[in-house]
Amino acid sequence: MQSAVIASASATMKELFDFVDEGLAESDCDHTFRHTLRFLESHNISPEPVLQWLQHAGGYCDCEVIMNAEDVFDFANPTFDKPTQ
Ligand SMILES: [Zn+2]
Repeated sequence: MQSAVIASASATMKELFDFVDEGLAESDCDHTFRHTLRFLESHNISPEPVLQWLQHAGGYCDCEVIMNAEDVFDFANPTFDKPTQ
């Protein structure tokens, strides 16, 4: 169920990583999910399943989301950037 939620939200996850990346470029990580939560709230996404997935992937705050979870996400979705013909 959890992975299905994430899979169906692949495009949104990509946006999330971009959003957090930009947020961290403006201010250092304060070792919370500050930017992650702001993004989820603004998209009306329930944070629990997403945070659980991120933590499972090694992301326990915004900077770890970028350093660890984004790589796991790319690895889990190798064809994401290549639309099917
Ligand atoms: Zn951090």
